[in-house]
Amino acid sequence: MLKIYNTLTRRKEEFVPIHPGEVRIYVCGPTVYDFIHIGNARTFTVFDMVQRWLKSPAHNFKVTYVRNVTDVEDKIIQRAAENNEPIDALTERMTIAMRDDLDRLGLEAPTHEPGAMAHVNGMVRMIEELVGKDLAYPAANGDVFYAVHSFPGYGKLSGKSLDDLRAGERVGVDAAKRDPLDFVLWKSAKPGEPSWPSPWGPGRPGWHIECSVMSEVFLGPHFDIHGGGEDLQFPHHENEIAQSEGAHGHSFVNYWMHAAFLNMGSEKMSKSLGNFFTARDVLNKYSGREEVVRFFLLRGHYRSQLAYTEKALQAARHELDAFYRALSNTPLVDLEIDWSNPHAARFKAAMDDDFNTWEAFTVLTELRQLVNKTKSAESTGLLKALGGTLGFLQLPPEQYLQQHVVIQLSGVSASADIGNFVLPADIDNLIIARNAARKAKNFAEADRIRKELEARGVLLEDKPGGLTEWRRK
Ligand code: AMP
Ligand code: ZN
Repeated sequence: MLKIYNTLTRRKEEFVPIHPGEVRIYVCGPTVYDFIHIGNARTFTVFDMVQRWLKSPAHNFKVTYVRNVTDVEDKIIQRAAENNEPIDALTERMTIAMRDDLDRLGLEAPTHEPGAMAHVNGMVRMIEELVGKDLAYPAANGDVFYAVHSFPGYGKLSGKSLDDLRAGERVGVDAAKRDPLDFVLWKSAKPGEPSWPSPWGPGRPGWHIECSVMSEVFLGPHFDIHGGGEDLQFPHHENEIAQSEGAHGHSFVNYWMHAAFLNMGSEKMSKSLGNFFTARDVLNKYSGREEVVRFFLLRGHYRSQLAYTEKALQAARHELDAFYRALSNTPLVDLEIDWSNPHAARFKAAMDDDFNTWEAFTVLTELRQLVNKTKSAESTGLLKALGGTLGFLQLPPEQYLQQHVVIQLSGVSASADIGNFVLPADIDNLIIARNAARKAKNFAEADRIRKELEARGVLLEDKPGGLTEWRRK
């Protein structure tokens, strides 16, 4: 029996899908104004693991997985203006970069990945419905707000009353609002900003409404699982419930799942705090074996916070190396999983207990010891197949193991850590650029980059066979 911790009820519940054999999932995706950071990537990787497990031979659910792209928002408008770049050029660039990063992390593409801009008409219609039901009101300044006190269930996801929320949250004071907790559904147009026509004049949608509308378009007004990072519980998801249940008059989502933060020190990694690494910088350090980063992100339980440290990444690398070494010693056969096998049964029990990857990988570690001892085709095949249910251990072991401590001349594969030493990502990129220059026989440029690196305290050594190693001066 699969159990899921439901934020709405604050307990683990047996998972029963609305339509037998099918699961519909919606996850709040990125705001595409910049590269995603490795904290964002954790949340998306967690939900990739969830949907893979539901689809895996353990359950065989038909999964419809929607992850939206927020492509109209204050931060996007501001960044496009700073860059002197059209908004759609910025969002397109960042959407492609995000897909590229998530692909390198082994994430499967969602079934649907809608962008908000394409659904503004649907948002206008839902806002009209809410205004018609007196759940929303147009203000004098042309904005439209949701009147939270008119929706009796407001606060049920965060487990707080309106009074608690007013006291506990920093809510913006805005003269146009009737209640400081009221949130914006429609923002009236400002000069130079993109806008769409509406019954309240030209403007653009607020952020919360897009998820209510796009989830309905692709999954219907009542679906199984809604996910996101823990920061989205309030206000974003609380507001989605108010909008969708307010408009439809019935339950919106059965299971709410929230992934815990990835932290830097004791603080959440975030763009606004400036304490972040982009996913691509981290991935570049593990080029050719990006699975290490996926393993780092999924080794612990998704509801436990995860600290980003170089040491933790190294530990993940050592552990994953050990799995691939075990697989490399035996001929690999692709097996169908026998769920009555004790290791398989324990792995499934762990995953069915609210996706307890910590326990599931611990079972795989025991299975790995058995593989090393017996070298039997059966246990090796089982290890590969169980790892595969979560998107692990599918590379040819020789390919994975070759990626160690080398920077290849191809210019696409660069390993940026040797031993415990880490290069900042910009230096990493210079090494890649130099290798590309050498390959193009542009030795002047290659030399210039070498000197630049040397000035920054990094010495390169070109090894036979086209490999480059580096060390600190
Ligand atoms: P954003 O692009 O800021 O809307 O965030 C996209 C997703 O990443 C949301 O689901 C956030 O909850 C999640 N997120 C943001 N910061 C972190 C973090 N430090 N750790 C884990 N998830 C995060
Ligand atoms: Zn959302």
